[in-house]
Amino acid sequence: MTNYVYSFIEGDIKIKALLGGKGANLAEMMKIGLPVPSGFTITTEACNQYFHDGNTVNSEIKAQIEKAVIQLENQTEKQFGGDPCLLVSVRSGSVFSMPGMMDTILNLGLNDENIMSLAKSTNSKRFALDCYRRFIQMYSNVVLDLPMYQFESILEEVKEKNNIDNDQELTEDHLIELIKEYKNVVQQGTGKEFEQSPKKQLYAAIEAVFKSWNNERAKIYRQINNIPSSVGTAINIQMMVFGNMGDASGTGVVFTRNPSTGEDRLFGEFLMNAQGEDVVAGIRTPNPIDELASVNQSVYDELCKASRLLEDHYRDMQDIEFTIENGKFYLLQTRNGKRSASAATKIAVDFVNKGIISKEDVLKNFDLAQVDQLLHPEFHPEKLASAKELTVGLPASPGAATGQICFDTQAAEEACEKGEKVILVRIETSPEDIKGMLSSNGVLTARGGMTSHAAVVARGMGKCCVSGCIDLQIDEEKRLLKIGEHELCEGDYLSIDGTTGKVYLGQVETSSANLSDEFATIMAWADEVSDVHVLANADTPQDAKKAIAFGAKGIGLCRTEHMFFAGDRITDMREMILSQNEEGRKIALNKLYPYQKEDFKLIFKTLKQQPVNIRLLDPPLHEFIPKEKGEIMKLAKDLNVTYDRIEKITEQLTEVNPMMGMRGCRLGLIYPEIYEMQARAIIDAALEVTREEGFVPSPEIMIPLVGNEIELSKLRSMVEVIKLALDVDDELGEVKIGTMIEVPRACLVADKIAEHADYFSFGTNDLTQMTLGYSRDDSGTFIAKYKMQKILDEDPFQKIDQAGVGELMKIAITKAKTKKTALKIGVCGEQAGDSESLTFFNSLGIDYVSCSPYRIPKARLAAAQAAI
Ligand code: ADP
Ligand code: MG
Ligand code: MG
Repeated sequence: MTNYVYSFIEGDIKIKALLGGKGANLAEMMKIGLPVPSGFTITTEACNQYFHDGNTVNSEIKAQIEKAVIQLENQTEKQFGGDPCLLVSVRSGSVFSMPGMMDTILNLGLNDENIMSLAKSTNSKRFALDCYRRFIQMYSNVVLDLPMYQFESILEEVKEKNNIDNDQELTEDHLIELIKEYKNVVQQGTGKEFEQSPKKQLYAAIEAVFKSWNNERAKIYRQINNIPSSVGTAINIQMMVFGNMGDASGTGVVFTRNPSTGEDRLFGEFLMNAQGEDVVAGIRTPNPIDELASVNQSVYDELCKASRLLEDHYRDMQDIEFTIENGKFYLLQTRNGKRSASAATKIAVDFVNKGIISKEDVLKNFDLAQVDQLLHPEFHPEKLASAKELTVGLPASPGAATGQICFDTQAAEEACEKGEKVILVRIETSPEDIKGMLSSNGVLTARGGMTSHAAVVARGMGKCCVSGCIDLQIDEEKRLLKIGEHELCEGDYLSIDGTTGKVYLGQVETSSANLSDEFATIMAWADEVSDVHVLANADTPQDAKKAIAFGAKGIGLCRTEHMFFAGDRITDMREMILSQNEEGRKIALNKLYPYQKEDFKLIFKTLKQQPVNIRLLDPPLHEFIPKEKGEIMKLAKDLNVTYDRIEKITEQLTEVNPMMGMRGCRLGLIYPEIYEMQARAIIDAALEVTREEGFVPSPEIMIPLVGNEIELSKLRSMVEVIKLALDVDDELGEVKIGTMIEVPRACLVADKIAEHADYFSFGTNDLTQMTLGYSRDDSGTFIAKYKMQKILDEDPFQKIDQAGVGELMKIAITKAKTKKTALKIGVCGEQAGDSESLTFFNSLGIDYVSCSPYRIPKARLAAAQAAI
């Protein structure tokens, strides 16, 4: 017989797949002695069985539920539908946390009769009535599918009529009136009386929760988070405890640490005389959790103790729901808390320092997707100083965002499609707003605390969010936002800072973030365990600085062509290309030499003694020649030649397949003076830095596009002759000369090429292009279609093609190592920054990868994960 129902005392975290996260954790909390109201869990298997049976609860499952209800009655010494009356909550709970995505019903089991027994046993008629009106509203919405606003507007009316601001001030008479009107809504909406049988209420609720697994917002959430639809949800039936029983009762939500910053301090909110949903829904503004100490010190102490216990037990930061019933403390939920990327790093480091987890645990579990968030922008400090601050809300999710105001999901999606930056402005967000949040750069809400939906979801997405900004007056109909005297329309610009909670008028420029100390610590741990060094692709002194800040162990690829575009240099470069003889070229190259040398010097000074691998000129020369008429005319004037002459030479330089034409090492072999100038600039720069700074830099000279060992041997001799002539061996020591492996033939004759190379660097962009025969520049038109037709799983320019290009790399490495066992080998294509590709490169036994500066932190972590 299949066990479809588990009492909380039978449950265990090991069968989380059956119990769902909520159920498994409720059982686990009971096990470690924490106060949890009794209850039982209906399994995910029962949910799938329900769908399998055409949306019916079969008799076997029913029988098990009946038995569990009787057991619960015995445990609680109350009667479901009897006296003293047992009320329950019916709570959805999937295996994966889907906060707020599915439905929960509270106070179930009440009807016109037993409400009196509840009033009697609790000595408060008002309280019993309050539970009943809440129950009718939730049940009608979740089970009967009646829209929430119908009930809300009645509540508003009653409050207005009686001059009441606060739900707590509703009297017994008001509540009786409300209940009557609510029942009318049900009667009108369904044609039936409000269900009076607790048993029938229970089954209807169970079915509704099962069905909520397939509601629209749950489906979207699963899509975004890659949760398979086949897992189903479990249901927890739990005895109600009441936070709305009076001023000694209350409810709250806490994180064991600050989910935004990671600070080791209880973080959250509570409301006295309120029921669970009230805190999250933002009906009243909750109080910060610290204040609970002055309301009830012993409950506060109990909460602190429980939160430590739970952290130690789960070895992770927890997100906890609790309720106080007449001064007695109950836990209702715990789960690993969602947190911002920067909080995640701080918490991880703190846990390692406390000995709760190991460095390897941190590295292994580090979510690489979060790394990008750590590099999220901040406002430019100077620009911020002159920005107009409009108001301050709660700093709900860190980062800085600027964009155009959109008041709903649809507007946000439309603006995003047009390529606009969006700030989604809402009174409060609900799960329906997820798509809008995804389309936005930042989220700003008028209501809701630090644990509100907007805050939790934004932190999970890594979106900047300011919540609970009470100065906002939003008129959704007129599409107007008023903040103080400022009136803003949809489409106007606004900037928000999720780290400080501040809201600014207009666009404020952002700049990239600095890495925290904790992140640097984790990165240092990563470097300790990884076998592969991470170097940077950096072409300018600025890039080099960035690369060092991100922890690059050197520059693995410095492309010299980019140095020729800045300022006046391009004119000299063009002069070089347009001179049609060696002498003319040399004159122009002599003008370029000082620029190159100065750039190299700056880069060497930044990198100190770390390697700087400089690639000699690679692209076809025509890339440097202007194509536009105006520009050609200007060039003709600058160089004092005719327009026709430039056109004629451009024509001569035009190639049918430039990527396989006059480029790479061929430039160096056919116009040796170009590579000679570059080699001289590199060596002179190194020499001058040695003399000026007192340290010896480590330049490496790389020859591109070699496919034949003679190409390399000739160019190597050329560089060596220059070195010899400059007589620098004593001062600089060995200057390594290597080659890029980016032509398939080079892989096949790698043993011969290795004889002339001090190192190899796989240029996986060109190697992919030439191995697959896909043009790097044109593949966008067909790769997407190839993926749709399932010809390709991934874009081979982003993820290395292991079967093809990878195989060539293996051949090359094996062959090369037969000649030089210690040959240094690296990879410098785009794929080097992709973690899956990096794991593969690691398995080939390479020494380093080189990628763009912003991808370095992620690559360092991926390298560590590959090594563990
Ligand atoms: P969600 O997954 O949306 O948080 P929950 O099932 O956790 O839904 O319930 C919603 C709210 O109701 C929570 O604040 C929870 O603490 C509260 N709640 C659930 N069950 C009970 C109960 N048995 N007694 C008191 N409060 C409850
Ligand atoms: Mg919950
Ligand atoms: Mg290349």
